[in-house]
Amino acid sequence: MFKINDNFLKLPGSYLFSTIARKVSEYKAANPDREVISLGIGDVTQPLAPAVIRALHGAVDEMAAVETFHGYSPDLGYEFLRTAIRDNDYKPRGVELSLDEIFISDGAKSDCGNIVDIFATDNVIAVTDPVYPVYVDSNAMAGKTGDYDKAKEAWTDVIYMPCTAQNGFVPEFPSRTPDIIYICCPNNPTGTTLNKDQLQAWVDYAIEKQAVILYDAAYEAYISEADVPHSIYECDGAKTCAIEMRSFSKNAGFTGTRLGFTVIPKELTAPDSDVMVNSLWARRHGTKFNGAPYIIQRAGEAVYSAEGKAQTKEQIAYYMKNAATIREGLAGAGYEVYGGVNAPYIWLKTPEGLSSWDFFDKLLTEANVVGTPGAGFGPSGEGYFRLTAFGTAEKTAEAISRIVRL
Ligand SMILES: *Cc1c(COP(=O)(O)O)cnc(C)c1O
Repeated sequence: MFKINDNFLKLPGSYLFSTIARKVSEYKAANPDREVISLGIGDVTQPLAPAVIRALHGAVDEMAAVETFHGYSPDLGYEFLRTAIRDNDYKPRGVELSLDEIFISDGAKSDCGNIVDIFATDNVIAVTDPVYPVYVDSNAMAGKTGDYDKAKEAWTDVIYMPCTAQNGFVPEFPSRTPDIIYICCPNNPTGTTLNKDQLQAWVDYAIEKQAVILYDAAYEAYISEADVPHSIYECDGAKTCAIEMRSFSKNAGFTGTRLGFTVIPKELTAPDSDVMVNSLWARRHGTKFNGAPYIIQRAGEAVYSAEGKAQTKEQIAYYMKNAATIREGLAGAGYEVYGGVNAPYIWLKTPEGLSSWDFFDKLLTEANVVGTPGAGFGPSGEGYFRLTAFGTAEKTAEAISRIVRL
């Protein structure tokens, strides 16, 4: 008799974005004449950069000739891409990596979810609250989070670190000691960041507690302020306690193209056995993953060309102009707004103490604008609301003027 992994049954019901999609489609069906603008889901809208498209076409042509055809990629990914990453993302920031510390994947979501495989079940995880849901749900599927407490909307065996306006969205060291600490910086959903000193404090804490930090730097390219680190390895000692995950999705529009990577320095070893975490991930990657497509890795390489850098920088500037439109528009109308300076997300306090789902309904029905209720990202997201800067400039401006008129 086969048995299912019943950890899946503990997962709370309908996923945030399916609930939103259902509410939006019900509203549209009832009000077919209304134009609804979505600043909800975190997906890019600008087309791939010309340099990336050219590399894609070139790689497709290579696949058409026997001399240049490519089959399976090397386990860790092609060296041309890992070299470009090492030389462009890390070397200029004073971070020396060897090529076998970089693992190419099909995206950061897979890596965040799959990394759970290499850690023991009895590790206690700590997450910021609100949080990108993948970290918690992937641990829940592996039976590492205890049970889901419906009333508290929280797992019994997860350490939640509230990040709210009261603490400036900087997580405080928890009273219970975690083994695995998830940090996403710049943050989705709050759009806020940790500065160098704040991140260094977390690195020092992890080293002291012999914990590992899983650092999600998917929004690294949006950083505009000088004191925000682009990589956790800019902090002293981070190579001994941190894994960094990155993505081409938000920095180069690869959400539908799929490419990311994870860095695991060889200095990161298990405190009780000196086993290199790098070798576990190499084994896991080689066993369960057969590589990102050659043509996509060539496209990723093009992101690091002079042209690719200039073009993707322009795309990010486009989104960050939207972020400024949202921030300034709402702040001018008296809203309390956060984020949007080093990240394409604006996190706002709901007005008049509305719950985040009540504000969602109000915005949908009265302004025909879709955002994401903060409560969907964790208990401390209640009373907040997320808008994304990934729309077009025209629709973003129209959405904000509708909200301001409310
Ligand atoms: C979008 C996003 C990612 C990127 O995921 P991909 O699988 O690379 O598209 C990772 N982490 C966070 C927090 C994100 O918002």
